Amino acid sequence: MRGQGFAIDEGKALVRPGLRGELAPQGAERLPNVEALRIQGGAPAEAVQDYLEYRRIVGDDDQGKLFTPQEYEDYKKRVIPVRLRNRLYVSWRSPTGMDCKLVGPETPCFCTHRYKQHKTDFEELPSERPIHLPCRVGHCQCKGYLYVPLNGTSPIRCRCKHFADDHSEANGHRCKKCSTCPGFHSSFTCGCGKPAYVHQTVVETKEERLAQGKPVGQDVPYAAMGGLTGFSSLAEGYMRLDDSGRGAQPLAFLESSGSRMDHPFLKAYAPQISGGSSSSSQAVSHVTSEEEDMAYFEKRYQEQLKKEKTSKGLKPTKGPTQPRPKQP
Ligand SMILES: [Zn+2]
Ligand SMILES: [Zn+2]
Ligand SMILES: [Zn+2]
Ligand SMILES: [Zn+2]
Ligand SMILES: [Zn+2]
Repeated sequence: MRGQGFAIDEGKALVRPGLRGELAPQGAERLPNVEALRIQGGAPAEAVQDYLEYRRIVGDDDQGKLFTPQEYEDYKKRVIPVRLRNRLYVSWRSPTGMDCKLVGPETPCFCTHRYKQHKTDFEELPSERPIHLPCRVGHCQCKGYLYVPLNGTSPIRCRCKHFADDHSEANGHRCKKCSTCPGFHSSFTCGCGKPAYVHQTVVETKEERLAQGKPVGQDVPYAAMGGLTGFSSLAEGYMRLDDSGRGAQPLAFLESSGSRMDHPFLKAYAPQISGGSSSSSQAVSHVTSEEEDMAYFEKRYQEQLKKEKTSKGLKPTKGPTQPRPKQP
């Protein structure tokens, strides 16, 4: 629905999987709302961190019921290797060849659901092209993820004058408000100067991207990463500063060989308590979910850089300063 922000529904139990040994499911604390806690700064930062990490990896695959630590470990063993092997990259491409939008977990589809609510993990990659990523939300007719740009924060209009979300999410995208519209078609001009209707939502494999010289970024264990390959990926194509999208040279830790749960990324990003520089109360209100994604990955990236510097014996650069204690 238009005008309704995406409700962050994290009213679920909080577990700290794999941290300091086993945790009985009944030992889980209740976490009413991650967002609220972050703003209030009322929850232990590390617990929120663990929870967010869990969510990034598991997505909705736990059907709303938190995995036990054992289930979580099993899930990671089973899913992450496949995810790394069969990652699909999703972008919204201009006829000029530029990816004007790199789709991330929170990027809405034409059907109004988020990218992460679509099928994004494949045991085996489909052989036909294009690859369709159907929506997994019950009763949604969406047969394949389709990006539709916004005009600022407003939905764009079809040539029939109705908004994108006045149209059916089923194939054909017929208008639900008028009978004359033959299907959604928008002349909205993208930042690249081309109209929206000449762009395409492209779903491709790592090999397909590499063959075109497009960035593939680093391997990450997170669900529904879509086209995010760097830390400025969420900016529109013409605003991105580095066209590689990689952000930095492959990090040293990726070179160490590991297997299964020994995956270097996981090792590096295991929910350990970092040097106290990370505070979960830095969240700014009114940021969009997409901006939150960016902040999350950016933070992880900075933590990693800091670790690298430390391991090379250099002084770590100063992290973000701690928020001052609240004044009464
Ligand atoms: Zn949907
Ligand atoms: Zn959809
Ligand atoms: Zn229409
Ligand atoms: Zn219409
Ligand atoms: Zn464009």
